[in-house]
Amino acid sequence: MASDSVSAAGKPANVIDGKAVGEEIVESVRVQTLDLKAATGTVPGIAVVLVGQDPASQVYVRNKSIKAEACGFKSTQHTLAAETSEEDLLGLVGQLNADDSVHGILVQLPLPGHIDETKVLRLIDPKKDVDGFHPINVGLLSTGALDEALVPCTPAGCHLLLKRHFGGSLSGKNAIVIGRSNIVGKPMAQLLLSESCTVTVAHSRTQDLPTLSAKMDIVVAAVGRPEMVRGDWIKPGAVVMDVGINRIDAPEKGPGKSRLVGDVCFSEAVEHAAAITPVPGGIGPMTIAMLMANTLTAACRAAGRPDPTF
Ligand code: NDP
Repeated sequence: MASDSVSAAGKPANVIDGKAVGEEIVESVRVQTLDLKAATGTVPGIAVVLVGQDPASQVYVRNKSIKAEACGFKSTQHTLAAETSEEDLLGLVGQLNADDSVHGILVQLPLPGHIDETKVLRLIDPKKDVDGFHPINVGLLSTGALDEALVPCTPAGCHLLLKRHFGGSLSGKNAIVIGRSNIVGKPMAQLLLSESCTVTVAHSRTQDLPTLSAKMDIVVAAVGRPEMVRGDWIKPGAVVMDVGINRIDAPEKGPGKSRLVGDVCFSEAVEHAAAITPVPGGIGPMTIAMLMANTLTAACRAAGRPDPTF
């Protein structure tokens, strides 16, 4: 084992408990929401828009609404039929943009094929864009204006865990982000760069990825390939953020059963890493917690108050 000591939760000491940290963030959001309300009368409002009946999206939306209520937010859900026209959806986003009681707008992806996702996401007021996908927020992040940007939730969760692990400063660390998507890989790389890491962004055309990865102090895997990152890709003492969520067959659990794994082979990597996030229970719960944090941030800015701290 990488560590003989075991935490109170029964996990090896080098396993980062994203569920526990996520709960701590949600509690902090709840307390800071009370402060905001006491000081200004503002209650953070989040509007979640779901188009169609995709079962996974329904679960995500329900979980977001439950967390928003736990934070003391005003949470509204707009569930639209799958055949809703693009024009009608754009009309709803326009209404939510104009509604001062709504500080965060989240349109659950994917949208049905007849709707242009880019058009919808770009109509969201950047100040209410709690997913951080609008080009204005992408630009603010890439110019280092973190005090103005809303940062995508998954990389924001990894960033917070890394900062806590390293006691605040990541300066000078060598980091690799495996994956270059707009929602995870690229914003993650920008956040690490803003922390003065030396950042390598790897993707499907990267050559000799195992050797490259094995030199890094920080490895963030956001690929979507079950257990691709093996133990010998991890430098002893490195910190690993496993963003991947992959469902694979689990015949050992019974016929037709499945289980979730990350993009990192956990059982191998845990032997090398100083710290690693598990799947499930790592980055997933952090992502939803950061959505709540972003909504509170948006509400504080709208009320002319300083950003909340976490
Ligand atoms: P995308 O499919 O958008 O991007 C995957 C990236 O991985 C691409 O940049 C791709 O490269 C790269 N890639 C694919 N194959 C390889 C390979 N063999 N070697 C190196 N790089 C490779 O995925 P997302 O970023 O949206 O998501 C990644 C994973 O994270 C998924 O498992 C997803 O479910 C999970 N996820 C989890 C979240 C959470 O809350 N925990 C939130 C969001 C995502 P190229 O660009 O060259 O094609």
